Amino acid sequence: MANEAELKTPAPEAPGPVRLLRQIRDVMARKGDAQERLDSLVDIIAANLRAEVCSIYLRRSGGSLELCATEGLKAEAVHATRLNAGEGLVGWVAQTARPLSTISAQEHPAFSYRPETGEDAYQTFLGVPILRGGRLLGVLVVQSVEKRGYREDEIETLQTIAMVLAEVIASGDLLDTVALEGIELRPSRFETLQGRAFAGGIAIGTALVHKPHVGSTRLIADDPDAEEQRLRLALGQLQSDLDRWAERDARVGAGLTGEVFDTYRMFARDPAWTGKLFDAVRSGLTAEAAVERARNEQRARLTQTRDAFFSDRLHDLEDIANRTLRYLSGEDTQVELPENAILIARHIGPADLLEYGAGTLKGVALEEGSASGHAAIVARALGIPLVGRLDDALDRAEDGDVVILDGESGAIHLRPSDEVLESYTARVALRGKRQAEFARLRHRPSRTKDGQDAELMLNAGLLVDLPQMGATGADGMGLFRTEFQFMIAEQLPRLEAQIEVYSQVLDAARDKPVIFRTLDLGGDKILPYVSSERERNPALGWRAIRMSLDRKGLLRYQLRALMTASAGRELNVMFPMLATVGEYRAARALALKEFEWARSRGRPVPDKLNIGAMVETPAFAWALPSVMGETDFVSVGVNDLFQFFFAADRDHPRLTDRYDALDPYFLTMLARIRDICAEHGVPAGVCGEMSGRPLEAMALMGLGFRRLSMPPSGFGPVKAMALQLDVKSLAERLQEVIRSDNGSTREFLKEYAAQSNFSGLTHWQIG
Ligand code: PEP
Ligand code: MG
Repeated sequence: MANEAELKTPAPEAPGPVRLLRQIRDVMARKGDAQERLDSLVDIIAANLRAEVCSIYLRRSGGSLELCATEGLKAEAVHATRLNAGEGLVGWVAQTARPLSTISAQEHPAFSYRPETGEDAYQTFLGVPILRGGRLLGVLVVQSVEKRGYREDEIETLQTIAMVLAEVIASGDLLDTVALEGIELRPSRFETLQGRAFAGGIAIGTALVHKPHVGSTRLIADDPDAEEQRLRLALGQLQSDLDRWAERDARVGAGLTGEVFDTYRMFARDPAWTGKLFDAVRSGLTAEAAVERARNEQRARLTQTRDAFFSDRLHDLEDIANRTLRYLSGEDTQVELPENAILIARHIGPADLLEYGAGTLKGVALEEGSASGHAAIVARALGIPLVGRLDDALDRAEDGDVVILDGESGAIHLRPSDEVLESYTARVALRGKRQAEFARLRHRPSRTKDGQDAELMLNAGLLVDLPQMGATGADGMGLFRTEFQFMIAEQLPRLEAQIEVYSQVLDAARDKPVIFRTLDLGGDKILPYVSSERERNPALGWRAIRMSLDRKGLLRYQLRALMTASAGRELNVMFPMLATVGEYRAARALALKEFEWARSRGRPVPDKLNIGAMVETPAFAWALPSVMGETDFVSVGVNDLFQFFFAADRDHPRLTDRYDALDPYFLTMLARIRDICAEHGVPAGVCGEMSGRPLEAMALMGLGFRRLSMPPSGFGPVKAMALQLDVKSLAERLQEVIRSDNGSTREFLKEYAAQSNFSGLTHWQIG
């Protein structure tokens, strides 16, 4: 912000910003040479702000800033003066993405003298960033001879002008100008962003930016009073909805305090935030543009902050701004998908992703995300590729860009050249062929080369997953995540609705086993109709079985639905996130009680009830021997077990690669679980994403696990591996490697796979 100490001499009253904005609009609407239009703009701005100098610096693709138009500096400096990021006051504004106002430019520590501009005569400097999203397009500067401080409202006005400039510039009609060659007005060239692949596959489609910009035609208000009224209405609606939701949750007694809403409500009422919006509208912007401007500034600051708490607050503000934009546009969250849409977002929750729907969405590209995060799980369930950890994806992609999303290498290619497009089209065709080969394996029994029977099962959670049973030839469903159904519903599913879903799942499995996991809510699995408490450590918080045992009604209700749906068949049910023997016993007792209750009343009950325990915490892995007499099966939830073993958040983008599931000590723990179960004759399986990766699945089989439950995309490669595996010989060698304490077993397994000459598995599948 402006240096307050320097705001000494008050300037004359600012001329009406509304008039200025209209003049800018008229200039931009003119046909003809872009340079001429930029020249007219600087004239108008200088005159309106009573400055001798007004200059526009635009960012070149290499990051330097080029003087592209000026009123007041020497004409020969235009397109000749370039400043590196961080160089001079202009570079400072660009680097910090903040305005800078000073009455003694030469004395500022960042000042850098450029004689060709003739700027030494001008002492007073005001520069503001030209931002779009979090991306810097350039810097707008006014300078004057007279030593005078710019008032806050003048700084605001210049920022507003910069925002309008940004949208107009990026909307594209300056693009084809020779004079502006090398200037990056909007991303238009082919570029590749490298991230991480979290759900496999390749998609070619059209970018749909999750939070698009306000179009340049909706920036300048025709009637500022009407805009003010619209903004007032939208903010009123935002506040009353937030109040209503908070109140409803309190009434329903969900027990989930509305802390999230409290934070939101605080922001929505914050006079600093709302005041800024009203100021922007009064200066001539539309209500949407005012919100967009505030959002741009937040986003630019977000890209610079390293502080997690501050960054969370900025995310909250961004959410509020997005919600306000939705009220203004009068539409709800539903977005029209272009054909073959590839969604580009910062982060997306599983519920939002499901809302975008299966079928039309071809892929997802995220700035954040992780392999075992639930967005990735949902993407795999939907059979669409997801690439995450793509820095700046939101700012590099524009709605409508052609995108290739490579869920194998973890890259996205924006606006690809014809050659790249052709080569990917060929790869998509090849993939289709390979998948057809895998599909041929689906009728083969899951038996290793040395004759050991395995059960390769499906992880599912939605009705859209069910056709995968036939498509993959799975030996059953090793994990049905029941909470997904709750997450996509508008309201808490009634008993009948739950019975209906579970019946359909059992029907789809025919006579193959299905293991239902009871509700695993909390963490990032949030119900849209129940506000959840924002916890400091949601993964370690009040979730899954903890919530179920504290709110028994919901669990009993679900158990009742499961029993009814399984009438006359077998029911396998297991509990998530157990940490103690007591929790398991309490949950098991509840299931048995529900069974007895139904039977004693002559209600339908399953022929056979098998109750299992999930091992997802190291605590429960240690407690396991104590429940051996009371459990019918065990399933290792390796996503969570991994996160708690290494104390590494499974959703944390920086930790995705930090620890290896093939770490010898992690494998030692898995081996111990498997040995305890084998000793007591209790069937033990592994569910979680690890089972669906051929190298990891090979390790699990080498440890003795025969039941692996995985996402559909894992079937082809894992089955191809299993059919060619001599599991006995692997087991012996694996034991040795684990004992040798030589770091990860990954290299050994890769070599083993290479020596065994596994066919049909390419490097990416095995590596
Ligand atoms: C797991 O943690 O491994 C698991 C299967 O459960 P979820 O991924 O749903 O947490
Ligand atoms: Mg889990």
